Amino acid sequence: MLAYIGLGSNLDNPKAQLVSALNSLSECNDIEVMTLSSFYKSKPLLDIPGPNYINAVCKIETKLSALDLLEICQQIEENQHRVRDVKWGSRTIDLDILLYGEQIISNDRLNIPHPEMTNRAFVLVPLFEIEADLKVPLFGSIKGLVDRIDISDLIKL
Ligand code: ATP
Ligand code: CA
Ligand code: CA
Repeated sequence: MLAYIGLGSNLDNPKAQLVSALNSLSECNDIEVMTLSSFYKSKPLLDIPGPNYINAVCKIETKLSALDLLEICQQIEENQHRVRDVKWGSRTIDLDILLYGEQIISNDRLNIPHPEMTNRAFVLVPLFEIEADLKVPLFGSIKGLVDRIDISDLIKL
């Protein structure tokens, strides 16, 4: 299965946090990291105080189920000392499963496509960078989605 994962960090050397999470994904036997976007700098969501974020998106090939993939992602977050405090608060690492093939999944633990992805420049722009002709289930072409959002606060590094 092809899947896309969004990575974000704004604490404790964000770039190194992303690299570390990507290494952990690569080291997982059941995951092959195929493509990685550039790193992007973005501002915290809403006006939540905190440092700017570094974001990226990667494309993976995996035999894992979506739930098993979520568990791996959450394990990596835990290994990198992610602390859950305020919703959307600062974090060392966040791994969101954006897409899992063309599947639409909605249950207590998992919503795919990630429900907020279409509102977020720091997800759509790196996704467009690595897969310009992608069709997002329920939402249509990545090109159309990128064209509709404000990308002025996003800086490609
Ligand atoms: P957001 O989901 O709006 O980006 P967040 O990343 O800060 O916010 P978390 O605290 O990381 O939210 O995750 C909360 C819960 O979201 C997780 O425990 C997980 O079960 C659930 N979840 C639902 N869909 C997904 C998904 N596609 N990828 C990752 N987690 C998901
Ligand atoms: Ca997130
Ligand atoms: Ca998350």
